[in-house]
Amino acid sequence: MKVSIHGNELELKMGDITKQTTDAIVNAANGLLMGGGGVDGAIHEAAGAELLEACKQIRQEQLNGEYLAVGEAVISKGYHLSAKYVIHTVGPIWYTDVENKEMLLANCYKNALKIAVDNGLSSISFPSISTGVYRFPVDLAAEIAMKTIVDFLRDHAFGKVVMTLFSEEDYKIYTTKLKRVLQ
Ligand code: ADP
Repeated sequence: MKVSIHGNELELKMGDITKQTTDAIVNAANGLLMGGGGVDGAIHEAAGAELLEACKQIRQEQLNGEYLAVGEAVISKGYHLSAKYVIHTVGPIWYTDVENKEMLLANCYKNALKIAVDNGLSSISFPSISTGVYRFPVDLAAEIAMKTIVDFLRDHAFGKVVMTLFSEEDYKIYTTKLKRVLQ
C-alpha cells in the first residue's frame, strides 16, 4: 500500500529491512547497541562487523559510555547494507517500561525521522519497533507508528517513508491502522 501525504510518499510493504534501498534503515536496537536477536541481529549480520565497532564508538563518544535511552536515536553508516545509514533506536519493553510506553514508542519514530532530516536524508525504512521480543501489542504499536509518521509527513517536505513488515498479519494490521489515521 502506497499513499501520498503532503507531497511525501508512505509505503507499507512486507519484506526484510536489511534489503531496503532507502537512504537509511532503522534498527530496533537495545540500549547497549551491541547487536542482539530479531531485526537487530539481522541488521548487524548484513552490515558486517564494522557496524558493531561504529556502535561501540557511538556509545563511548556520544553517550559517554551510557546506554542509549528508550525513545532516543543515533545514526551510523550502513557499511555492507544497501542503505547508506542505520538509525538505531530503542523501543520500550511492554512489561518493564511501565510508564509512558505509548509516548516512548512515538519518540522512537519521531527521533529517527528527526535525525534523518538533520542528516539531509530523504528516505527511510522502519521495522515494527518493539513488537517482537519487547512484546508491545502490534495493534497499539501500529496505531502509534502510523499516527506519528503521518503527522510528521503532514508537517515536513521529507521524501519517502517505508514501513517494512515481516509478516502478512503485521502488514494487514498496519494497513488497517493507516487507513483509519488517514480518514
Ligand atoms: P523488539 O526488540 O523492538 O521487539 P524484534 O527484532 O524482536 O524487536 O522485533 C521487531 C519486529 O521486527 C518484529 O515484528 C519482527 O518480526 C520484525 N523483524 C525481524 N527481523 C526482521 C527483518 N529482517 N526485517 C524486518 N522486520 C524484521
